[in-house]
Amino acid sequence: MDLREQLRRAGVVGAGGGGFPTYAKLGRRAQIVIANGAECEPLLHKDAAIMEHRASAVVSGLLWAMKATGASRGIVALKAKRARAARAIEQAIDGSTVEICLLEDYYPAGDEVDLVFTAVGLQVPSAGIPPDVGVLVCNVETLANLAAAAEGQPVTRKTITLAGAVGSPATLTVPIGTSIRDALGAVGGVRAADPVFFVGGLMMGELTTDAQRPVTKTTAGVVVLPRAHPLVERRMRPAVAQRAVGKSACDQCRYCTELCPRYLLGYRVEPHQVMRGLGFSPAAGARWGSFGLLCSACGLCTLYSCPESLYPKEACDDAKRELGRVAASSAPRAAKPHGLRDARRVPTRALVARLGIAEYDHPAPLGADLPHPERVTLPLRQGAGTAGNPLVSPGDRVHLGQPLTAVPPDALGAPIHAPFAAVVGSVDSGHITLDRRT
Ligand code: SF4
Ligand code: SF4
Repeated sequence: MDLREQLRRAGVVGAGGGGFPTYAKLGRRAQIVIANGAECEPLLHKDAAIMEHRASAVVSGLLWAMKATGASRGIVALKAKRARAARAIEQAIDGSTVEICLLEDYYPAGDEVDLVFTAVGLQVPSAGIPPDVGVLVCNVETLANLAAAAEGQPVTRKTITLAGAVGSPATLTVPIGTSIRDALGAVGGVRAADPVFFVGGLMMGELTTDAQRPVTKTTAGVVVLPRAHPLVERRMRPAVAQRAVGKSACDQCRYCTELCPRYLLGYRVEPHQVMRGLGFSPAAGARWGSFGLLCSACGLCTLYSCPESLYPKEACDDAKRELGRVAASSAPRAAKPHGLRDARRVPTRALVARLGIAEYDHPAPLGADLPHPERVTLPLRQGAGTAGNPLVSPGDRVHLGQPLTAVPPDALGAPIHAPFAAVVGSVDSGHITLDRRT
């Protein structure tokens, strides 16, 4: 069977958070494949753990991806500070043509547009994607899953970091569908009276108070903070209040723009202009909103750059929602990086200090795999594309790796599989629950 079909059946999707089905990503030719281990979300360490402990799977997946796309260069990109992971990768690539690119410790090093320029000096055109310049970027865990899928193993487990106000920060591999509560139980539980959970990280993750929320194929980690933490208060501020304070307090100092990674790469992203639009009618504001359409939502402007603690990233989010994304037909334009880009990179340690999370900035070493929980909840859709159609009914007995959904052959999507032997508890339009078979 051809590799892409194997990946489609195994349900491999971007494990760094993107969730794009990998078989579709491998559908374009490329000259270079980059294994993205840059991992820049503060407090998360799961990619470092994967490279340290599954280095040969990462490199094997990279070689498979190179073969599938016709690429002649393969590069593993990771931060120089990840010394153990770098050593493991060096050993795994020994004897192959795969290269290592060691990065400095800045945010957002893992943004793929930023990474392509840093690692190979190629500028993704405005409104374009890395394949437009012949580069395929895949998260390191995705590549490890790709290697497993090439041997017939579907995606049933996920490696995540559990950090913040928890007993003992750690990185664990858990059955997909495990609840946040069960995962946190394995690291000594929560150390905050009124906790909230940043799923996917503090900068770009989602905030939830629902401890029953399941780990999916795209969950990179969970950071727990007490509700009283200033970061939580900022994130929970209602959108109407964010806009009101922005309208009255933005002094157009431009710091948000001058430190914006996309602006510094030469793209037409100027969040101060989007903020200016808050004071205009919706029609006039559209002119200013257009400066936010290529924003990557990295969050740096809101959480680091703005001295007034305003919400330029959220203003860009609004602009994207209201104006739509840059039209697919708009011709990619060449962009030219700002001369001070390197000097204006934001070091992770400065970001950690600004976020007020230094007390939580600890290693999160790989722990023992989580035993199978009593119950898992599997969303039918765990990435880009359409949800699969359930193949099982309540009461069915399923075995490890059994497909639980099927995606129509002509649709983009990824099926889900049983992460252990279980009995189907419920099936509805959004989820399948499984109870551990005793
Ligand atoms: S940094 Fe803050 S105050 Fe300055 S222009 Fe941007 S949003 Fe306005
Ligand atoms: S979130 Fe802010 S800093 Fe990040 S790309 Fe968008 S405008 Fe730039």
